[in-house]
Amino acid sequence: MTYVFPIWQQPAVPVAGAEARFPVRRIFCVGRNYAAHAREMGSDPDREPPFFFTKPADTIVADGSAVPYPPATSNFHHEIELVVAIGRGGANIDAGSALDHVFGYAAGIDLTRRDLQNAAKAVGQPWDMSKGFDHSAPIGTIKPVASFGHPGRAGIRLSVNGVERQKGNLADLIWSVPETIATLSQLVTLAAGDLIYTGTPEGVGPLTRGDRVTGEIEGVGTVAISIV
Ligand code: MN
Repeated sequence: MTYVFPIWQQPAVPVAGAEARFPVRRIFCVGRNYAAHAREMGSDPDREPPFFFTKPADTIVADGSAVPYPPATSNFHHEIELVVAIGRGGANIDAGSALDHVFGYAAGIDLTRRDLQNAAKAVGQPWDMSKGFDHSAPIGTIKPVASFGHPGRAGIRLSVNGVERQKGNLADLIWSVPETIATLSQLVTLAAGDLIYTGTPEGVGPLTRGDRVTGEIEGVGTVAISIV
């Protein structure tokens, strides 16, 4: 096979304890999956089931990178999230066996142009340009289940310039990881290489140039970026 121009570089994420990297296929994200965050966004978490949106695979940002402040926004937000890395695909996956499809977990940041998102919400337009813009999906090293297991009641937090902004616990996810995989796999056939950003706890807020952003999930790992 030849191509009319050089084929793109497949985005891939480092894996703890391994030389081989995790090749990214698609990026799915869960909206409003922590009750307190749903409330701070003006929604009632009891009235609406969580839902999904996507980012292109090439929005992946390596841990430790400098992220350029994006165009077309003056309200650029951080959202720390547990990321599930799918190692085995499938459709209509049973929640009871969903964890068998997980390769590993990482800490990630769902970067968001909040002003564009709010404008889109107000008129019922899609979120693509508020969520799926360039450099919008930082992710830390993936810890494989085979070596590190599944996270339980783990703290999740994010700091900006050393000041804590977000703090939550994975136990507070409205939809658990197995339920999220089961539901998403009823909508699309999941494949090895898919990532699922599982939603953010409360405390989202704006970033500015020069900010140093650090996220951590206990037992899963860290993710760090700077805004330039
Ligand atoms: Mn999010």
